[in-house]
Amino acid sequence: MEKKPFVTKEKIEEIIKTVPTPFHLYDEKGIRENARAVKEAFSWNPGFREYFAVKATPTPALIKILGEYDCGCDCSSMTELMLSEAMGFDGNHIMFSSNDTPPEEYKKAADMGAIINLDDFTAIDIVEKTLGKLPKRMSCRYNPGGLFALSNGIMDNPGDSKYGMTTDQLFEAFRVMKAKGVEEFGIHAFLASNTVTNEYYPKLAEVLFKLAVQLQNVTGAHVTFINLSGGVGIPYEPWQEPNDIRAIGAGVEKVYNKVLVPAGMDDVSIFAEMGRFMMGPYGALVTKAINEKHIYKEYIGVDACAVNLMRPAMYGSYHHITVLGKENAECDHKYDVTGSLCENNDKFAIDRMLPEIELGDILYIHDTGAHGFSMGYNYNGKLWSAEVLLKEDGSFEVIRRPETPKDYFATLDFTPEYKKMFPEEQQ
Ligand SMILES: *Cc1c(COP(=O)(O)O)cnc(C)c1O
Repeated sequence: MEKKPFVTKEKIEEIIKTVPTPFHLYDEKGIRENARAVKEAFSWNPGFREYFAVKATPTPALIKILGEYDCGCDCSSMTELMLSEAMGFDGNHIMFSSNDTPPEEYKKAADMGAIINLDDFTAIDIVEKTLGKLPKRMSCRYNPGGLFALSNGIMDNPGDSKYGMTTDQLFEAFRVMKAKGVEEFGIHAFLASNTVTNEYYPKLAEVLFKLAVQLQNVTGAHVTFINLSGGVGIPYEPWQEPNDIRAIGAGVEKVYNKVLVPAGMDDVSIFAEMGRFMMGPYGALVTKAINEKHIYKEYIGVDACAVNLMRPAMYGSYHHITVLGKENAECDHKYDVTGSLCENNDKFAIDRMLPEIELGDILYIHDTGAHGFSMGYNYNGKLWSAEVLLKEDGSFEVIRRPETPKDYFATLDFTPEYKKMFPEEQQ
């Protein structure tokens, strides 16, 4: 499928007059349409809720849009909890799916009334000690071990992952927690990442639904929700077939009717914690070609770098690139598109066939709406970019200003060097 920007070149040129490149741009219309489609796909389940994985895009203006579709927040740190609380989400709309958790974060989550999803058996004691007693509603994260395979070859390796409890631990956890007064139980698992197949959620659901029936039968614990977590992917590559959320919802419904309903568990709510699927395609990194270099290969240097989008450097991920205004030009030039970090992996594309790029051209890097801005960092003293929302009515709004040198140096504000750089700060 051809990948097209969600914005025109003219609009981008207008935005650049106010907001210098690089910046991440988000598409309100796309976010809303997709959130609506997700809600509809699971409308057969009255308790369904998507808890957006805050780590994917921790930007209040965007998460609040999802909130309008009754989405909640999936958090795994103190600051994510703080942000979710400040955005006005109540406890029923906050899932705390953390791991290697500092006890004070359980305290914060419990104070907010959030659902605590335990990553490990040993956490039961820790939560009990920290809170005085266990909350009435608790969830446990499951790791079946071994390999998790789907028919199109996508596979992940739960046996090699740090998350979740073993099957035996899960049964024991339910027994112990029930004895300690827990009344409502949830089960959670995240077994494969960025799956581009409609098969993943239904297959995961089957594993978890069967487990839920056994857990309820054996321990007597009342399972009230099953959390399919994240892992529903997006087609970063133009030749990939996108997931169809309606087919995914219908696939889960089929397994629900086959496994849970006959077991008398037709009141179980389905939860999700998608990040990438909710936001990924509706963000783009907008950057300008500022240098060219002709050595053993042809390089185009842009004003963004890996601190703005780490996925290519970290995972070798493909992100499609459109050279704005040259959509119909022939891709007859082979480039490495690089950032300015003193790191040779700082490349947005390697050996990519693109139209001939001239300095000043605007490059639109697709699918940065999730795990894009949020994975940023400050290596080489590079600053965080702005985030801009393209609204449904065609106007735009800066939803996060760019970082300034003063922000970057703020934690040195007690040093003589800071005082030298920002003398105007002195009273
Ligand atoms: C990262 C994460 C998610 C979201 O994953 P996506 O691949 O973005 O859908 C959901 N739940 C947990 C616990 C996570 O760590």
